[in-house]
Amino acid sequence: MNTEKQQLNLAIVGLGGMGNWHRETIAKNDKLTVCGSFDINPKRQQFAKDHGIIPYDSFEAVLADPKVDIILCATPNDVHKDIVVRALQAGKHVVCEKPVAITSADLQEMIDTAKQSGKLFTVHQNRRWDEDYLTIKNIFNQKLLGDIFRIESRVHGSRGIPGDWRNEKEHGGGMVLDWGVHLFDQILMMLPGQIKKVYATLSHVTNELVDDGFDVELTFDNGIHVLIEVGTSNFISLPRWYMLGRDGTAVIHDWSLNGEMVRITDWSKNDAVPIRTAAGLTKTMAPRTKETIKTQPLPIVREDVKGFYNNVVATIKGNATSVVTHDQLMRVMKLMEAIFESHEKQQAIDFE
Ligand code: NAD
Repeated sequence: MNTEKQQLNLAIVGLGGMGNWHRETIAKNDKLTVCGSFDINPKRQQFAKDHGIIPYDSFEAVLADPKVDIILCATPNDVHKDIVVRALQAGKHVVCEKPVAITSADLQEMIDTAKQSGKLFTVHQNRRWDEDYLTIKNIFNQKLLGDIFRIESRVHGSRGIPGDWRNEKEHGGGMVLDWGVHLFDQILMMLPGQIKKVYATLSHVTNELVDDGFDVELTFDNGIHVLIEVGTSNFISLPRWYMLGRDGTAVIHDWSLNGEMVRITDWSKNDAVPIRTAAGLTKTMAPRTKETIKTQPLPIVREDVKGFYNNVVATIKGNATSVVTHDQLMRVMKLMEAIFESHEKQQAIDFE
């Protein structure tokens, strides 16, 4: 992968909500240009025209245009495989939206085609660049809470599953494939070690056909226990992140990065003033006295939204390797398959 071209042209296939997000984001990247798009919906073709990019007549027309260096696939999930494989076969570099595919067999076909073509095939796992995630990862990597033994990662909403293709199985709907893929990818990029057990329960509060939420428990071989939860009927949200270490606890409440860390400063002073409840007494659950702990602000990590596309361009130019690799994608895909299996069998699945 090595091109002398200064400016790379990208065409968008599927100019819906996310396709348009890419159009707007790429406009801020000085090495990339969105040259056109194709969408099966005539209104989105008109939208392309109104915004000064070529509305190609067909997908074949996108493939046939030598000006197009990169194809971005931002269609519903069930058509990703076909578009990606055909784009790679036509000699284009490919960026695909997440989830890259619906099954690991489909993903394998995409990876094999990419290897044969020698072109870049990567996936927009953009939530690796989220500041809440980078901040919790920073606390983990710097061991600010000592050895971590539990992480809880949650996303809660109260609007049910969206009423579009996301609630239809044949389009690859459901929250495991939609939000889950981000949250699993984040955890796998953060934690070393292998996942030994996967236990999952999917919810169907607003939709019978696909899951509208889930909770997944992962047990790692290093003893770390992870809970990943998505809910779409949660009128009160639990924190985005909750991380427990032997020397302290961190919480990140929301995407605005409200939160804090509480760390132990003195293990020796262990006297507890018992708490009396209406019907009992507890020393175990009595809060720590102020002189034994310290509350600290989060060590916030700021990130540039251009990170993903900068890496795409640098990889195509031969100056970097892709940060979202095929092995990473396959590991997450297999994990999602284990999650569906666990829910179906109502039992923990041995994973790695
Ligand atoms: P959307 O429904 O808003 O847009 C999809 C578009 O694709 C529609 O305009 C539709 O007409 C078009 N389309 C459908 N089949 C097509 C085909 N065969 N050829 C060309 N166009 C076709 O959906 P969306 O929310 O934009 O989601 C699109 C993809 O982006 C999904 O894979 C989704 O998971 C992903 N997504 C990613 C993020 C993220 O943060 N990375 C966020 C939202 C969506």
